[in-house]
Amino acid sequence: MRILLTNDDGIGAPGLAALVAALAPRHELTVAAPAEEQSGMAHALTVHREMEVAPYGGFGGAAREAWRIDGTPTDCVKLYLEALAPREAWPELVLSGVNRGANLGTDVLYSGTVGGALEGYLHGLPSIAVSLDARAVMGFDGAAARFARCLSWFFDQAGAPFLFNVNFPAALRHEPPDFAWASLGCRDYANAFGRVERDGRVYYRVGGEIVDGANGPGTDIALAGRGFVTVTPLTADMTDAAALSARGRLAES
Ligand code: MN
Repeated sequence: MRILLTNDDGIGAPGLAALVAALAPRHELTVAAPAEEQSGMAHALTVHREMEVAPYGGFGGAAREAWRIDGTPTDCVKLYLEALAPREAWPELVLSGVNRGANLGTDVLYSGTVGGALEGYLHGLPSIAVSLDARAVMGFDGAAARFARCLSWFFDQAGAPFLFNVNFPAALRHEPPDFAWASLGCRDYANAFGRVERDGRVYYRVGGEIVDGANGPGTDIALAGRGFVTVTPLTADMTDAAALSARGRLAES
């Protein structure tokens, strides 16, 4: 399969190298990834400056081509598909990851990993965001190898295009891993901003500790906590369908 890969941790990220190594034996890989880390950039598009695009040799022969782009994951996927990809060899799948750290619940709204996959989905391509809990002992190679072995399973689950958010948990309950369909939970943090004073100036840096409230048993947060690899189908349409249908009748009358 022809696969386009990106990673919001940057083109030198170990999670990207792990995915390339796991997929290279059976697939034709192209990498288009940010020159620098872009975590937390969500679906940002660079509109105010030029972006340098340069060939990248760091994957050796494992990737058919690799591009280092000084933009966001969304920039990378959009630019590759619209400006660089050969029409006769369009990717059949877009993968974003393996991200350093989980992207669960409401965190998907901030996630550059999900943003990169979302851009593939907006281009009509099956797209998967893959993340690994920061506490996981399996490491990037372990997550990438397990993901690569199950890749065809994702295509058996849904008609294309699809957008799946996949999270490998801190500890697996079974081997091979159990995949669980999950809804997005609600992730919250305490002490989200740390204050620093330096040279008479005040700075804040985002961080904090996870303090999830109640999350139902079908949510990604609850299921990841039980050791499942969670799979959440996402969509790009943010319309509040219930609110719209309640009001639609008034608009017609
Ligand atoms: Mn990241």
